[in-house]
Amino acid sequence: MMTSAQKIKALKKGRCDMAVGFEGSAGSLIPRIKSISLFINNMCNLRCPYCYVSALNKEVPVEIKVDDIIKFINVVHEKCELESVVIVGREPLLSPKVMLEVLQEIQKMGIPKVGIITNGTLITKKIAKKLAGLVSFVDVSFDGLKEAHEKTRGRGSFAKTVAGTKRLLDAGIDVFVLHKVDSASAPQLNEFAEFMWNMGVKNIHIFTLYPRDIKADVFMDAIKELVDSPPSEMLISIKGDYFDKEILSALSDYICNEKMVESVEGISFIEKSIKHNSILRVMLENEPAEFRRGLRIDCFGRLVFCADQARSLKRPVGNISESLEEIFSRTSLIHKIIDDYVI
Ligand code: SF4
Repeated sequence: MMTSAQKIKALKKGRCDMAVGFEGSAGSLIPRIKSISLFINNMCNLRCPYCYVSALNKEVPVEIKVDDIIKFINVVHEKCELESVVIVGREPLLSPKVMLEVLQEIQKMGIPKVGIITNGTLITKKIAKKLAGLVSFVDVSFDGLKEAHEKTRGRGSFAKTVAGTKRLLDAGIDVFVLHKVDSASAPQLNEFAEFMWNMGVKNIHIFTLYPRDIKADVFMDAIKELVDSPPSEMLISIKGDYFDKEILSALSDYICNEKMVESVEGISFIEKSIKHNSILRVMLENEPAEFRRGLRIDCFGRLVFCADQARSLKRPVGNISESLEEIFSRTSLIHKIIDDYVI
């Protein structure tokens, strides 16, 4: 049985092995990029107080240029055979034309997993129907049941997000609910999961904010209670990452006698069957994964690290107007940023 320290050490070793990829798998400096996450705009209709890209509110609306991004994704896919592309926002539904055009072009490339992340408030029946033909999944963000959700996402937002989620499910789309758990929503985690199950949701993904607004033991107690009594046939995913060592260690300890595996996108996780035919999946990340397995692109076409975005640090490593060779000649900058965050 591995202790949390051993498990995190194993993750570190994984990182070192992967880093070799930068030095020239198949004679190239380009690592095997498995995924792309893409900000198609800088706009959102909500004002969550913790939003790490809220600084963009002050700027004029910007949308990514469809031709430029498609050209770049094509090049990456030709060289690396991408596993997934996710449109992460800011709120994609505020740029429906750009979103649909990008998705239509990506569909032609035959990338296996394509999805969007949305706050769910702007999903109409018509959009849900269009998305059904273009995406393999949609992630919808919730901050809890009505009271907890509206405390951060604004009055009236819960009903809109629920309605949007139902429309996606009615259109036959695989919906993943992303649930930020804090001290207000933790006591209702089981009720929340039950509510989602009654709506037809089969996948919930649980995480905390960083800086965290819930004690690690309160979070873990809520998780254990949910794992003890889950809704049936639900995939419950939890993320512990380098932003929050205490939660990473607590999750690692909780699941330490299970085997660690890796998804096709290169994400390390541990999975086990729990009651009522449900599955618990715990993802453990000890460093930013961008530029090793994935690229994150902002609406200006810059290649950025999620962790840098979260701290409003402007250290783009490249731009979609450049070749991959040019971008990955900057390995020392890429490693420096990774080393700033690695445990
Ligand atoms: S819905 Fe997402 S993008 Fe919009 S303000 Fe909230 S966290 Fe930010």
